[in-house]
Amino acid sequence: MFDSLSDRLGKIFSGLTGRGALSEADVSAALREVRRALIEADVSLEVVKAFTEQVGARAIGAEVTRSVKPGQQVVKIVHDELVAVLGEEANPISLNAAAPVPILMVGLQGSGKTTTTGKIAKRLKDKQGKKVLLASLDTRRPAAMEQLQTLGAQIGVDTLEIIAGQSAVDIAKRALNSARTGGYDVVMLDTAGRTHIDEELMEETAQIKAVSNPHEILLVADSLTGQDAVNLARSFDQRVDITGIVLTRVDGDGRGGAALSMRAATGKPIKLIGVGEKMDALEDFHPKRIADRILGMGDIVSLVEKAAANVTAEDAQKMAKKMKKGQFDLDDLMGQLQQMKKMGGMASLMKMMPGMGNLAKSLPDGRTDDKIFDRQVAIIQSMTKKERAKPDLLNASRRKRIAKGAGVEVSEINKLIKMHRQMADMMKKVSRGGAGGLANMFGG
Ligand code: GDP
Repeated sequence: MFDSLSDRLGKIFSGLTGRGALSEADVSAALREVRRALIEADVSLEVVKAFTEQVGARAIGAEVTRSVKPGQQVVKIVHDELVAVLGEEANPISLNAAAPVPILMVGLQGSGKTTTTGKIAKRLKDKQGKKVLLASLDTRRPAAMEQLQTLGAQIGVDTLEIIAGQSAVDIAKRALNSARTGGYDVVMLDTAGRTHIDEELMEETAQIKAVSNPHEILLVADSLTGQDAVNLARSFDQRVDITGIVLTRVDGDGRGGAALSMRAATGKPIKLIGVGEKMDALEDFHPKRIADRILGMGDIVSLVEKAAANVTAEDAQKMAKKMKKGQFDLDDLMGQLQQMKKMGGMASLMKMMPGMGNLAKSLPDGRTDDKIFDRQVAIIQSMTKKERAKPDLLNASRRKRIAKGAGVEVSEINKLIKMHRQMADMMKKVSRGGAGGLANMFGG
């Protein structure tokens, strides 16, 4: 959902150069892009400002692990900070109170409030076996009450009997009573919305809160409203002290600024996201996953983590030098295979690198398990030193001999040699062409 932001950060990544600790110039170049990207993603200006300041403070002078590029290091810092702002953990709805647990649903008209009420009720019933009662407090729009009733029937959840002429507060009281006497675990109150925030709406919501003492007050907000979402969240939060946010229409949101803005403006967790009109189109909000998606561009973050953990600076530089010269023999391939086995598989590693997804597909059978690495290492070990240094020597009879020695079919030898040739070609290209490839990745 956050494509445009990922694209932006992708450009920063290929633009930065340098070594060692991150310089102020590196960082401010990156931050300019981060700022622009966030604004374009419809994040509110104040949040953009606070966020980039935080990132800047952490990034300047940060040590760059030698096996990654500074740009990648900045991306990692931005990622960590995004996770911090979005909230570290997934926040499920709390039912940790005496039954029936009241949940108050608030938000503007058309935000998806009634739909979300139904989705949550269905989830509580299906996944947690809860007995849920639904009540619509929308006294101005009889159609809204009927909508909830229809929805309830559709998902097999009870709704409070509709009695015309009652006030929202009276309906709330009646709902609580019915839930108590009916032995319900949860009672969800779907309040009336307005087309915009007004005092009457806030006052009514506050009164309903006073009589129902809700355990959760969930603000339902349309992720497509972007900047407005901040004001909305802040108004509701100041007046009724919401406990969480449900972001709807995330399925249609290409920018994703609302999540960041609303969280930053209220400090309240985004608990769930709506990803479609169907009753099961509701997902937990995972800050990490969202931050990963914001950054997109191959999973640079985990690559940086893995590289930092596994590749020593010396190894990296030696390899980079060889790659630059276009020398990459089978001994090197063996070293890489052993290294990559440690790092969790070559295909998965390559998929994480921008522009290398295709090469990953050309790996034997597209498989990545350890056995393949072991077998390939065994094949190379069955070659003579000369053969490893000069793969051109490997004619049909030599291949047969090696296959026998390694206990594999000749076709496996052929595949390995083909893979080596592709890698060597690619490395030559990358080291000539510059950004984004293996040679740079490993310190070149
Ligand atoms: P309310 O006025 O806030 O109660 O809004 P409704 O629940 O009636 O929803 C308004 C419209 O938005 C309906 O057509 C819903 O199907 C649709 N809607 C709600 N949530 C989502 C969502 O997460 N994704 C999409 N695509 N549509 C949604």
